[in-house]
Amino acid sequence: MNLIEHYIDGKSFSGSSDKKGKIFNPATGKQESEVRLGSRADLDLAVEKAKKAFESWSNTPPLQRARIIFKFKELVEKNSDELTKLIVNEHGKVYEDAKGSLTRGLEVVEFACGIPQMLKGEFTENVGTNIDSWSTRQPLGVCAGITPFNFPAMVPMWMFPMAIACGNTFVLKPSEKDPSCAMKLANLFKEAGLPDGVFNIVNGDKEVVDAIIENKDIPAVSFVGSTPIAKYIYENAAKNEKRVQALGGAKNHCVVMPDCDLDQAINGLMGAAYGSAGERCMAQSVAVAVGNIGDDLVNQISKKVETLKVGPGMDKASEMGPLVTKEHLEKVKGYVDLGVKEGAKLVVDGRNIKLQGYENGYYIGGCLFDHVKKDMRIYKEEIFGPVLSVVRVKNFNEALQLINDHEFGNGTSIYTRDGDVGRTFANKIKVGMVGINIPIPVPVAYHSFGGWKRSLFGDQHMHGPEGVRFYTKLKTITSRWPSGVRSNPEFVMPVMK
Ligand code: NAD
Repeated sequence: MNLIEHYIDGKSFSGSSDKKGKIFNPATGKQESEVRLGSRADLDLAVEKAKKAFESWSNTPPLQRARIIFKFKELVEKNSDELTKLIVNEHGKVYEDAKGSLTRGLEVVEFACGIPQMLKGEFTENVGTNIDSWSTRQPLGVCAGITPFNFPAMVPMWMFPMAIACGNTFVLKPSEKDPSCAMKLANLFKEAGLPDGVFNIVNGDKEVVDAIIENKDIPAVSFVGSTPIAKYIYENAAKNEKRVQALGGAKNHCVVMPDCDLDQAINGLMGAAYGSAGERCMAQSVAVAVGNIGDDLVNQISKKVETLKVGPGMDKASEMGPLVTKEHLEKVKGYVDLGVKEGAKLVVDGRNIKLQGYENGYYIGGCLFDHVKKDMRIYKEEIFGPVLSVVRVKNFNEALQLINDHEFGNGTSIYTRDGDVGRTFANKIKVGMVGINIPIPVPVAYHSFGGWKRSLFGDQHMHGPEGVRFYTKLKTITSRWPSGVRSNPEFVMPVMK
């Protein structure tokens, strides 16, 4: 059985714990690996090594750091097939989708190659006579990242390339369900010339997460995962005086206006609701049908949901792969059962799908509910599976209110031909990422990614300019040389006269 260890100070490390987690191939249901679940001592050791590496890495000129990151980018490209297969085999999503998610992660690496430009700072000559002032952003120290199962490459790549480019060192705790891709990325970064100790991985569960929260030498924690854990990390890491960005769960609405191009909306919704089997924080899991568009929407989309090609991620014909684990499959099926009990109309039922040769895989077909009401749990809670709920509303204002009242505010989109409606939507909606005739409005690497409300705890979004701010602290220096104008002692606040 393949055993996945930790990666500390540039080497594989077994650590002090005998606890192990099981990793299954979701397409077959077969266990293929074990992962070491680390202890507090393992985490503390990784932080100690990262703290040591920080001394010289933080002092390495940004251009030299960028050159290593550039080499890493080349290696990720060269190894993209292997990395993609690691994602497919542990997560289950289809190959092209997995490759796309790796590419979105790579775009952050590309952005990080421009770090010298982003760290340039600001300078003002003569803030007072012969007095100059400049602001510079300096790295924080050992930063930590805790990541979810659903993007085993992309989400870690939102974090560590930015943190490392800024001069920090990093300890990653990937999801224990699919850690192999992160391990391969760490090895590639070393091959690119990254000094030992700059990037470390400690695999594990809550024990390692709690050790991160409590470790005094970690000044910053980035988290992506479900909302209850995001809130836990935010509260407890802040209590331990760390800066925190904690991205949580979602329930993303897609508003379908009566004037929209319905084909475009339906194609957008199909990909956004059922792509990656709905296991995306930007998945559209609610279609809000406005006015009289509901019947046409449900009739047309149901035909497409019924003919979705479900199969193993490595099969080129598959449009949708299995869910990540047996437990998650049971949870998603449980939500479909619940929706029926709550009185929503189950138009397409994917619960009983059987795949010949893959009887033990974690498959569910696409499910479609109509007439979902806002007090139902299937509307309020994140299902994280291929289940689309249609909610019917009378008009645009009702759609706006519905979304603004929801506890989550990660992403949303609207389909309309009316620019005025599109603009009002973008302006009034209480959601962090908004699409107008765009199904999954994930910001590109040089913008920043993050939601509102209970989809993000903290102030800064991930990657892009917000990423640079999160992983650096501002220092402002004001200086005068002895040859400048001399003054007598001053006992009042200095002001410009
Ligand atoms: P999760 O919250 O179960 O796990 C995320 C991380 O937290 C993992 O590394 C896990 O080991 C750790 N963890 C789990 N339980 C813990 C506990 N009790 N104490 C401490 N740490 C714990 O999330 P998941 O199931 O891996 O991922 C799916 C969730 O992530 C969904 O809710 C999805 O919306 C969310 N997500 C959000 C974004 C975003 O950008 N907002 C992106 C991707 C995924």
